[in-house]
Amino acid sequence: MMIVMKEGATEEQVAAVIKRVEAVGAHAHVSTGELVTVIGAIGDREHVANLGLEGAPGVDHLVPILKPYKLASAQYKRGDRTVVEVEGRKIGGDSFATIAGPCTVESREVILESARAVRDAGGQLLRGGAYKPRTSPYSFQGLGDAGLPLLAEAREETGLPIVTELMDVRDLEPVLEVADVIQLGARNMQNYTLLTEVGRTGVPVLLKRGLSATLEELLMAAEYVLKEGNPNVLLCERGIRTFERGYRFTLDLMAVPVLRELTHLPVIVDPSHAAGKRSLVEPLSLAAAAAGADGIIVEVHPAPDEAVVDGPQALVADEFAGYLRRVEAVAELAGKQLEAV
Ligand code: PEP
Ligand code: MN
Repeated sequence: MMIVMKEGATEEQVAAVIKRVEAVGAHAHVSTGELVTVIGAIGDREHVANLGLEGAPGVDHLVPILKPYKLASAQYKRGDRTVVEVEGRKIGGDSFATIAGPCTVESREVILESARAVRDAGGQLLRGGAYKPRTSPYSFQGLGDAGLPLLAEAREETGLPIVTELMDVRDLEPVLEVADVIQLGARNMQNYTLLTEVGRTGVPVLLKRGLSATLEELLMAAEYVLKEGNPNVLLCERGIRTFERGYRFTLDLMAVPVLRELTHLPVIVDPSHAAGKRSLVEPLSLAAAAAGADGIIVEVHPAPDEAVVDGPQALVADEFAGYLRRVEAVAELAGKQLEAV
């Protein structure tokens, strides 16, 4: 339930409503707008309804949130869009941002060279996984803890904020030391313990859509993070499983405009993991930008032929600036502003 306060409602009136909401075991999420304060009362709908808050001092009206996800719903923000800000880089709203880098932190040279290429091309954030979710237990699993200081060094040298994946709650502390954005991978989208723990940190989260997750399931996963008081969630479409076997995954670009109707959260697109193949990455990126994505997360490597993981889909670092200009041109056409860093 959303409790919309009157224009000019006092702090005491807001506090009194929060107290009554919490007294029935519901959580009160307060958003203070320019004109009015809205309190999201999230909990047992009956209990909140029975409070009889209509007509309480300072309360204007009540609006039920009909979707099963509440804090993630577009309705909750009444038309406002969430802009996630990471070290001055904005993602969401009118701002378009690019996250780029190698699949995994495979060596000091590779992560540093990639970081320089991303910075020089005007990318906003650097990606690179120290912990890798691999389909085969016999494949390279990432450098793990040893990869984290290399990310820290890349950040230090280039100033680019770091996006890196967390797979296990036990690694939360070391990851928090270097991550400006914590990536939760497609295979962990419904790892509710992980979502909750990351929610408690308040650190921005890049939440990837599961391989066969519906948009509603994605939004329910985001709700786990939001519920812990962490409003900084980026949703990421990265391709889903369909009957088509001609390519790796089906990049569901329909999800972009549909999510923008369902939620206020930024929506970014990962063309690399959907495609699995370099030649497809640029057309998919252009299409994502045209569909209104708030950003792109893309794999780039200085020498993709030698990459330990995902080389065939990585863009060549030398060609990255040209690619990015073309994607940004389409993003601008779609009404986005580009982040000057
Ligand atoms: C990744 O981004 O490195 C990755 C493993 O992606 P996904 O979880 O979407 O497969
Ligand atoms: Mn990868």
